[in-house]
Parts: sequence; C-alpha cells; structure tokens
Amino acid sequence: MNPNERTAVRRCREYDAAALLPLLREMAQGLGIGEEEIRGRVVAIKPNLLLAYPPEKAATTHPAVVAAAARLFSEWGAARVLIAESPGGIYNERNLDRVYTATGMKEAAEESGAELNRDLGWLDYPIPDGRVCKTVSIIRPIAEADVIVNLCKLKTHALAVMTAAAKNLFGVIPGIMKFEMHARFKKPEDFFSMVIDLDEQLSRTHTLLNLCDGIVGMEGDGPSGGTPKEAGVLLMSRNPFCLDLAASRIMGLEGRVPLLEQAAERGFCPRSPEELAIVGEDPGRLSCAFALPDAAKGKKFALIPPFLQPRPVIDGRLCRGCGMCVKSCPRNTIVMKNGKALIRHERCIRCYCCQELCTFRAVKIKKSFLYRLVE
Ligand code: SF4
Ligand code: SF4
Repeated sequence: MNPNERTAVRRCREYDAAALLPLLREMAQGLGIGEEEIRGRVVAIKPNLLLAYPPEKAATTHPAVVAAAARLFSEWGAARVLIAESPGGIYNERNLDRVYTATGMKEAAEESGAELNRDLGWLDYPIPDGRVCKTVSIIRPIAEADVIVNLCKLKTHALAVMTAAAKNLFGVIPGIMKFEMHARFKKPEDFFSMVIDLDEQLSRTHTLLNLCDGIVGMEGDGPSGGTPKEAGVLLMSRNPFCLDLAASRIMGLEGRVPLLEQAAERGFCPRSPEELAIVGEDPGRLSCAFALPDAAKGKKFALIPPFLQPRPVIDGRLCRGCGMCVKSCPRNTIVMKNGKALIRHERCIRCYCCQELCTFRAVKIKKSFLYRLVE
C-alpha cells in the first residue's frame, strides 16, 4: 500500500446522479484511473448497506452515488458491474432483498444497468502477510472481481470513532461471520489490526478504488443510530487509509482514530493529514465537526480498563423483543427475558454490535461515574 497515494477531495452538495457522473470521472482521472484500467474487467461496487434503512437516514451509501459510479465503470467498458455487499445480520436472499429495496439499490441498479449480487457464496481468503489474521472468509463476488470500488459512507462509529473506507471493507465478510471476527479479535487494537490486514491484502489482489459518500454523512450515535450531517464532500483514493485520514480532518477527528494511528505505524499512510497528497480541495477548509458517538467520547483514554469503559444497556421502553441483538452478540451475552433483551455484562467486550444492529435504537450507551471523570 503506497502511503503517498493521492486523495481527491471535492465539494458536492446534491445527490444528482447526472451531475455526479462527470464529477466522479474527473476525480478518478485526476488520480490516474481511467478506461484502460477498467475495460474488459469485472467491477464490484461495495457500498455500505449496514441495515434496511432508507437513504434519508444517512446510514447507508446513497443510491445516486452508486448509480453514478456504476455508469462510469460501464462507460469505461467494464465486462460486468455488480453491486455486492454483505449487510448487517444474516446473509441470505431475504435479507439481501429487503436491504436492496429499502436502501434504493434496486433503483440504482435499474438506472445504471448494474447487476445486484444474489450469489450467497463465500471463499476463504488468505492473508499471508497478515499481522494478526492469516485467513478470513469473504463473499464470492468480491473475491472474484478484478476491481473493487469500496463505496463507503462518512459516519461516526461507536467502536472505531469513524468509519469511511478502511472499516467499510470489513463488510465483505459474510453475514454473522462478522460477529465471529469480533469474538476472535476481542481487543479493539487487534480488531483494527485485522481490518488493516484485510484492507492491505485486498489492495494487493485487486485493483482497489475507494470512494466516500460524504455529501450527507452521519454524526452522533453512528454507524446506524446517529443523525444526518451535511458535509458536502466526496473523497476518492486508491489507498483507504489516506482517504480516511483526509476524512478525519473534515470530521474534526484527526488524531482520534486508533485504526489510522495503527495504519500509520505500519507505514500504510502518513501520520497527519498535512502530509497527504491532496488533489482538489484542502480537507481543512471543508472541516465541519461531527458530534461523536457516546461510546467513542474519551477514546483517547484507551488505557482505561475495559470494565470501566462505556457499556451497552437496553432501554426496555424501546425494546421490541426482535432478538437481533441476541443474534449479533459475538459473546452470546444477551438473553431474552419477558420479551425484552437483557445484557449480562460480565462477558461483554464493548464491540457495540448490539447497538449497531438494533433498528429500534433500544441499545443505549451508559458511562460509569469514573469514566465520566476522565473523558
Ligand atoms: S434491544 Fe433492539 S435488537 Fe435487541 S431485542 Fe430489543 S429491539 Fe431487538
Ligand atoms: S453485549 Fe453488545 S457490546 Fe457487549 S459483546 Fe455483546 S454485542 Fe458486543
């Protein structure tokens, strides 16, 4: 991964696929990406489709950006353009269909001529030089594509502080296997290391192009329960860590994102946004502070012992007893009692998967008195 990779940053305020197409073309060409690299190849666009939410919630990549990207790669002669993602929850036909419908991907595919992936297969993907992870399962359409367009959303994130390009690629792991990865890499630093291993290997085996929809991002209790935030920006880079570093400056989060600190230590990106090779707008001039999720406030005090870290609690008034959090907990520490979820905190690793996947916003983050003193 080239730490000096260029990152394109452009202002963009509207989700208008017709206007987005020339802008994306220009951004890609500014990075030296064009028809010669795409013609005859299979392109998999990997949006962030975390949950079956409509685009207005800003939890998922907007369909207008997906449609514009798909049209661009078709125009450049791609053999196939696929939209492929493993959303949160179970990776099956029913869930995929629900998510494609709610997020506007069906319209994006119809409008652009892209295919919606229906292949539920997955493969073991070796990471020979991985620091903490030597093999991982990934969905087949991504494994078999020539080009991955990592089309992420600009959001805050309870565990990772922010999510854009680097964390979005974790979504290539099929369905509930994502929860198994949380169980395997319990410590946040190991989890981020695993994500870096995966991203780096994908950039070796595929042509990787990262594109971030930051026209309207999400602040507060991201990645699913926050509020829309107009940032008016698109970012593009071959290097997901460089893209995220530029994004961290726009969000006002530079120096607070542990995954990026690790990526910089491993030589995959610069330490500071100042050192980035930017094409287009200066990220500092587009800065618009994103409110942090409750769980990520005070992340600079990472040395606080886990039992004092903010913990998830169920708001019984909001819990509908759907059981999604029970299925999503990598530590099997949530049970149903009298039709409501109940968390047994002794085994909780503070991964916040339960909060991420509760569509009723019934999982809240509670801080201890001691934690509040130091955050
Ligand atoms: S907390 Fe949320 S995900 Fe869990 S059972 Fe209640 S409503 Fe469902
Ligand atoms: S209770 Fe929630 S935060 Fe704790 S381990 Fe389970 S999913 Fe993760």
